[in-house]
Amino acid sequence: MKVFKFGGASVNSASAVRNMAAIVSNHCDDNLVIVVSAMGKTTNMLEQLVPGVHPLTEHPPLIQRVHDYHMSIVHGLFPDPTHAVYNTLNQLFEQLERQISQTPTDYNFDYSQVVCFGELISTTIISHYLNSIGLANQWVDIRRIIRTNNQYREGIVDFDTTLQNIHLLSPLALNQNLVVTQGFIAGSADGHTSTLGREGSDYSASILSYCLDAESMTIWKDVPGFLNADPKYFPDTVKIEQIPYNEAIELAYYGASVIHPKTVKPIQNKNIQLHIKSFLNPEAPGSVIGPFTTIRPLTPLYIFKNNQTLLSILPKDFSFIAEDNLQTIFAVLAKLNIRVNLMQNTALSFSLCIDDNPLLLNQLRDNLQNQFRLRYNQGLQLITIRYYTQDIIDRIVSDRTILLQQRTRTTTQLIIQ
Ligand code: ASP
Ligand code: MG
Repeated sequence: MKVFKFGGASVNSASAVRNMAAIVSNHCDDNLVIVVSAMGKTTNMLEQLVPGVHPLTEHPPLIQRVHDYHMSIVHGLFPDPTHAVYNTLNQLFEQLERQISQTPTDYNFDYSQVVCFGELISTTIISHYLNSIGLANQWVDIRRIIRTNNQYREGIVDFDTTLQNIHLLSPLALNQNLVVTQGFIAGSADGHTSTLGREGSDYSASILSYCLDAESMTIWKDVPGFLNADPKYFPDTVKIEQIPYNEAIELAYYGASVIHPKTVKPIQNKNIQLHIKSFLNPEAPGSVIGPFTTIRPLTPLYIFKNNQTLLSILPKDFSFIAEDNLQTIFAVLAKLNIRVNLMQNTALSFSLCIDDNPLLLNQLRDNLQNQFRLRYNQGLQLITIRYYTQDIIDRIVSDRTILLQQRTRTTTQLIIQ
């Protein structure tokens, strides 16, 4: 059995869906579980519709965009206007409309109840489409299988319960060699929808690979494999052919957008190899993450994270940044579910770099401002270079200002204005 994950870019138009269907049909002799993300940039659009993010009056054009975008794809795939897919999608859009007009409660909770529709809609379209071209498959609601705690926006997976549920999805148990399910979303312990963090579909695929003892997992991307830099920012990228599990974890943790940071652990645990391949060139070998000792070829690796906020937190009283203050700060970060991309402290201030998010930044300030003064700088870039040289750093930074830098023997991280 194999697990395939198709990301948003691989299903962002009717022709992209046809292309992914061709890849699936070439592998149909295996039992296959297909994990699919929301189409194109749908999750970004849905994030704008989470109750409380914008006034209700701003919703109509936003929801219209989500609707029209999917409908243009569906019209391209199902010329027959009476096809069952239209009815199912109408129901999903009605449910979505209801969710976005709810009174705001907890942001993390509201978030997952709304953004899950991206994956519910994409998999509905894809499952119907594969059926319509003769690739019989079973659509499965992953929220019945992958269980998380009640930390809705970045749920922690309960592997024991997920393992108990896995038979509800297993191609062998279902007697159906093709299964289509959602990435990114899951079911919370209290019976609601949770999500696994942005770009979490890779992690979903790896959880399923682990639970199903898959023979291999493949992530189909719009790049030829694991590159040493994001081709959006870097003209001359090098493809890494082999990556040891631990190296892949480090890279993903620093923000290599090719895979979600949590993806590697479960497959490493079962020694399952993870292939990263191009959906534009499916026959090409791509990259493999597996039980290797070094990356091949060995080359500097660059990771750029844009839209970063550098926050300095300073105690208002005469205390230093020591264990008790840090404990207070981390308790708030954990409560608000804010991921820290880099941190550093002096005697008097604690600096941390987080993704820009005005709503969460406000909540952070509300929680800390009694005890601390907060200063921040937004719109920064966090650059991580592994296997760096000074020459490389100089070239990358050029004449921009470095606000903060950290170095170990193998890795340097810079926050740049
Ligand atoms: N659709 C989600 C996102 O855009 C999950 C994913 O693509 O992996 O973050
Ligand atoms: Mg994606």
